[in-house]
Amino acid sequence: MKLFPTLLLFAAALSAAGRQVAITIDDLPRGGDHGPRSLDAVRAMTGKLLKPFQEQKIPVIGFVNEGRPVGFGPEGLRQILDIWLDSGADLGNHSYSHLNINDVPLTEYTADILKGEPVLRAALAAHGKKLEFYRHPFLHTGPTAEIKRAMQQFLDQHGYRVAPVTLDDNDFEFAALYTKPASKDRIKREYIPYMESIVAFFEQRSVDVVGREIPQILLIHASQLNADMMPDLLAMFRRRGYTFVSLDQALADPAYKLPEEYIGRYGLSWIHRWSMTKGMPGKDEPDAPKWVEEGWRK
Ligand SMILES: [Zn+2]
Repeated sequence: MKLFPTLLLFAAALSAAGRQVAITIDDLPRGGDHGPRSLDAVRAMTGKLLKPFQEQKIPVIGFVNEGRPVGFGPEGLRQILDIWLDSGADLGNHSYSHLNINDVPLTEYTADILKGEPVLRAALAAHGKKLEFYRHPFLHTGPTAEIKRAMQQFLDQHGYRVAPVTLDDNDFEFAALYTKPASKDRIKREYIPYMESIVAFFEQRSVDVVGREIPQILLIHASQLNADMMPDLLAMFRRRGYTFVSLDQALADPAYKLPEEYIGRYGLSWIHRWSMTKGMPGKDEPDAPKWVEEGWRK
């Protein structure tokens, strides 16, 4: 237990210069936990989540599910999206109802993408912005080559850029336990060390797969956990030598032009996809602690 943080610090000091990360937050207006879903509660959670980004001028993008079950309708959703945009954040589409392409026909899936646009487009337009990015629910990009190709064609035709993820984690498992009083304190202690283990893993994996560290793209969810822990999460990145960039800036790195030919049913980090495309042996990212993995669904 004593050696581990020392090693992490040492590794961080070795290559602390010039690391970059883009932060992306999924399942707006609120997802990944069992917290209250009234407009007031989501407004309060959203304000707290975005405060450090606004104050420190850190780029962030949120991905919206217009049909996510919450205690308010489209007008309430528009108010929440305006909080995001007013704070300087960008927004992208995450589909209307978070369908899983492994389970539904492509026509149903693509209709759900379009159904997720009206409130989002209107909010963006009112802030002089355009809808540009799509994030696949569950990071599922198509279980067969035909479905993957046809889905990408649909996204191209509708002017979408895919928002990949490299720092893939299970923050939602921690978030679900955080809203339960019995586990809240323990989650508070164990969340950032877990996230740091994910970051350290993908730093090394970037070097193995791409030959160097790349601007990373973090996926987390719009939860009370992240609202409360964001200053600590940002501090962890800073301690490891990171600066914060927009999704667009991260994607300008040539790594994101690498061939990505993964076909299958899993939602994987793009670093895993590139490694599989290259025919490299797989290596899984660290798991959440056992009590989290086993307890979050209960
Ligand atoms: Zn999602």
